[in-house]
Amino acid sequence: MTRGAFLALALLGIACETRELSRWKMAGPSSDPELEQQIFRALDAASEAGTYPPISKFQVRTATVVEERVVVGGNTEYHVPEAIHGESALVNHVISLVGPEVTREKVRFIAYYAESCGDSLSCGDCRDYQIETLDVENLLAVCGDASTGLVHVRRFRDALVPEESFPEVSASDVPLSKEDLDRLVAEATRAREGGIDLFTSRDHHAGASALSYAGAVYRAAGVDDAAFHYRYPIGGLLQQAATEKDYFLEAIVVVGEKGAWPRVSYRDRQYGHEFSSFNVKRGRPPIRLVLTDGEGRFRLTTFEESLPHAFSAASFLPGRVEEFLADKQ
Ligand SMILES: [Zn+2]
Repeated sequence: MTRGAFLALALLGIACETRELSRWKMAGPSSDPELEQQIFRALDAASEAGTYPPISKFQVRTATVVEERVVVGGNTEYHVPEAIHGESALVNHVISLVGPEVTREKVRFIAYYAESCGDSLSCGDCRDYQIETLDVENLLAVCGDASTGLVHVRRFRDALVPEESFPEVSASDVPLSKEDLDRLVAEATRAREGGIDLFTSRDHHAGASALSYAGAVYRAAGVDDAAFHYRYPIGGLLQQAATEKDYFLEAIVVVGEKGAWPRVSYRDRQYGHEFSSFNVKRGRPPIRLVLTDGEGRFRLTTFEESLPHAFSAASFLPGRVEEFLADKQ
């Protein structure tokens, strides 16, 4: 081989390698080349991450870079529609490698490898998990679109709406009759007296009640157990309503400790959002989500507002949900 041919081949090799490295391209402006390279490395690793979604067939492949190490995660499903989710699998993996402090301090992004990138950010439960484990004020949610090679970067905090920012309203602004509002507050307060809070802090123990368009009232309290399979108050009352084939709810009221605003976990917002999407499909208003401090003050929002960039069965399987709701009142 001549020296020229050798050089040409070597240059071709470099070109191929460069092409390999530039399989990804930032969709928007980026001012941090080091972070960009980490994101590209993570996306390459995520594209190879193992998953096991026998029920949904929907793969969630994730990765990040921490202390120069690329760490991957993938979703796995089991039994009934239950899953270890891609982002919680990833963060759990990072914690087991570098510990919780380094994880919170050093994980700057979660990269998702997707066939095509959509609008949704994590499910409610994964939002709760990331709030607990990561620096969510600065965390980036990165999606690498395999079909275009474009990398979309968003701020995870756009997925968060703290209870303090739910608009505070007077009782008369809550779109329920005084009688219905008083009844729901009383039912949620009574619910909170029950439940099980062996492991739950007082400020997280809540009761919830709901009024359906059929006129029924449901209520539930949070219930914990030794396996840490928490039963959520809103999820609990929604399960009761579904058991009664009562799928359309007008409002849900949540009560915490007297004098304090209750917390509404993102997981419970996910349950509420799924139900509210039934209302919306039928042309009804979204479910009103009302928080009260138990002393006459109220905050009013919806699950759509409190869980932005969400997904639901109605968006995932629109035809199936249509069919499911066809004979429901
Ligand atoms: Zn999730």
